[in-house]
Amino acid sequence: MKSPQIHHQKQAFEKLAFFLDSEAITKVFILVDENTKEYCLPIFNKEYQLPYTLIQIISGEINKNLDTCKNIWQKLTDCGADRNSLLINLGGGVISDMGGFTAATYKRGIRFINIPTTLLGMVDAAIGGKTGIDFNGLKNQIGLFSNPEIILIVPKFLKTLPKRELFSGLAEVIKYGLTDDPSIWETVKKIDIENFTFSTDLIKKSIQIKERIVKQDPTEKGLRKTLNFGHTLGHAIETHFFSKPTKEQLLHGEAIAIGMILAVHLSFQTQGFPLELVADITTHIKRIYKSSIPTKLSSKDYKPILDLLKHDKKNNKGATNFILLSSIGKPILDCQVMESEILRAFEYYNF
Ligand code: NAD
Repeated sequence: MKSPQIHHQKQAFEKLAFFLDSEAITKVFILVDENTKEYCLPIFNKEYQLPYTLIQIISGEINKNLDTCKNIWQKLTDCGADRNSLLINLGGGVISDMGGFTAATYKRGIRFINIPTTLLGMVDAAIGGKTGIDFNGLKNQIGLFSNPEIILIVPKFLKTLPKRELFSGLAEVIKYGLTDDPSIWETVKKIDIENFTFSTDLIKKSIQIKERIVKQDPTEKGLRKTLNFGHTLGHAIETHFFSKPTKEQLLHGEAIAIGMILAVHLSFQTQGFPLELVADITTHIKRIYKSSIPTKLSSKDYKPILDLLKHDKKNNKGATNFILLSSIGKPILDCQVMESEILRAFEYYNF
């Protein structure tokens, strides 16, 4: 799988124009949701003057499903999209995951470009070629690896992103700090949450890490698994909260933030990760997400979350594989942990 070029800031739209000039593209489609249509499309339109057809979907993880894909495929069909059409995904991770999936499967695959408009999209979801949708209550159950032609990183889109969404994206930055570059974690620890604005330096550093890892291991045979740190329990928690209308919904990054606290405690229990660091990481993550993640998990939630782990895509021969840490920046792949250890991590979280 060829890695796409990532273009930053001002240069990004010049590269888009160059790409469209040099490739035989018959029709351009732009996928947006109601928020990216309102806040991001006007910025895009200032830079892009060629004709296009807009495809609008309803925002939210709840719509990252087959029904929405059907609507996108229908619109592509109705508007005469052929094999040389191009889909531009203008939005967050939901748009790039689902837009990438619909493009990669429409007429056996048309080209697409990702223009992420959320922090989470910029530092993670838009890069690496994982596309897909949720299916029957299971996250990212259907999908395929398919790379966009190019990725444009334009941080000015973040000016209209709600604070809660910005912090959700920060969770993936924390992941890079804990698994790869301790200097990122040190920077995150100093974040003033009341006056938080995002530094392009942290975005660039995060993108470099993701790019380096997915270039070495595009289809997640080994090293790329480190990017799932916090995601094993995080995805199960996200899915569990999602399926309960009575519960306050968790954003993707918020569930991952809880998953990372649990993962560092499992690292302490099984890999000798120092307990003082578990406490330090927990304090900072709980400080950053104090208004959005629950302070405690209910013991009634334990079993359904454990049951959801059985569907994790990293499972092998019935065992759930975790990415854990021996120290900050030193991940260990394929760690199997016992249910009793997970329950102890839940108890630690609630302490
Ligand atoms: P999202 O796409 O749902 O966007 C969050 C919200 O912000 C939406 O309501 C959206 O309409 C709005 N929005 C987007 N840009 C905006 C802007 N500039 N101004 C104002 N509002 C804006 O969520 P997300 O956090 O970007 O992505 C989460 C998804 O990404 C999840 O489905 C997750 O599974 C997926 N993901 C995929 C990968 C991957 O490698 N493919 C990696 C991490 C996460």
